[in-house]
Amino acid sequence: MKGYGVIKVGRPGWLEKEKPVAGPLDAIIRPTVLAPCSSDTHSMHGGAGPKENLILGHEAVGEVVETGSMVRNFKPGDKVVVPCVTPDWTGRYIQEGKYNAHDNGLMGGFKFLLSKDGTFAEFFHVNMADANLVGLPENIAPEAALMTVDMMSTGFHVVELADVSYGETVVVIGIGPVGLMAVAGAQLKGAGRIIVVGTRPNCVKIAKEYGANDVVSYKDGDIVEQVKDLAGGKADKVIIAGGNAATLTQAILMVKPTGIVSNVNYYDAADTFTVPAPTWGLGMANIDIRGGFCPGGAVRIEKLINVIKHKRIDPTKLITHRFDGFEKIEDAFMLMDKKPPDLIKPAVFIKW
Ligand code: NDP
Ligand code: ZN
Repeated sequence: MKGYGVIKVGRPGWLEKEKPVAGPLDAIIRPTVLAPCSSDTHSMHGGAGPKENLILGHEAVGEVVETGSMVRNFKPGDKVVVPCVTPDWTGRYIQEGKYNAHDNGLMGGFKFLLSKDGTFAEFFHVNMADANLVGLPENIAPEAALMTVDMMSTGFHVVELADVSYGETVVVIGIGPVGLMAVAGAQLKGAGRIIVVGTRPNCVKIAKEYGANDVVSYKDGDIVEQVKDLAGGKADKVIIAGGNAATLTQAILMVKPTGIVSNVNYYDAADTFTVPAPTWGLGMANIDIRGGFCPGGAVRIEKLINVIKHKRIDPTKLITHRFDGFEKIEDAFMLMDKKPPDLIKPAVFIKW
């Protein structure tokens, strides 16, 4: 079968691979809507370690073509939403009641890209189908469901980590698709004031539609001073969904003592964080610094679909570019890599 991925670090392209095989608990899926993600491009450039001969992609809605002998809830022909994180539910961390994204170690639940081929293929494999797949409801647009599997799950997770509550002043640094979902999530959690950091005009427009009150540009000088001027002091919570290694220090500088800095931004393996002691109240400020990975599994994604179903938010605003046909995966991926200013999220629609 054909798939699109990384031939070797820095070189994307089409690959020829064996069709995957389903174990007793697993399913084989044909994708019908796909989206490339920043993490796919990071992987192509070698960000998460050298990768070669690997099919990329981890955001998909599709159709079941084959199920293992022990799968009870799905059959060939079913339309399904595929979480980007598909844990091994027997995993040690899960048994300890911890985040499911780390089933047997750091990001262990992220099978696509990290331990097997991804979704940019004619067929792809999903482990533990009953626990990891969600039936696509009749009245939900496939592209809306597609936005739950990573963008909404990650954007909402960083809000969960920040423990946002009614009336709080929340800063969201970075308003790409992940940060925009964090803005929507903070609004749903009852944030009082939401201040965002970002510049792309269409992201700024959508951030306001999702609930942002004020916008700060990191191109207009120190964001710490800008946020403090706007808020009349420090913020209750600071969420990081973009930026660079310096952003963590900035976030700590703009959060109140007892506040929380929560992060889902991806850093480079070579990055180092510098936190001058006074920034962290000489260690006495009770500032929590948290970072996390996108939660997965069927129940998580069902709940996010419920948020869309009852019209709390419309995540399809993120989709700025649409492509038709399997071979267009390449154009969509290259666009994600180039990131023109008007791009938020591309989606590829496939008819077989
Ligand atoms: P984008 O690149 O689309 O958005 C990044 C945002 O950060 C933009 O708003 C950008 O502003 C802003 N930004 C850039 N530089 C700075 C700076 N110096 N200071 C402040 N803000 C800055 O990213 P995505 O939304 O796609 O993803 C966000 C991050 O989340 C990525 O690192 C991605 O890899 C990661 N991620 C993590 C996951 C997880 O599970 N933890 C899952 C999925 C993604 P501008 O408007 O100017 O472009
Ligand atoms: Zn992703």
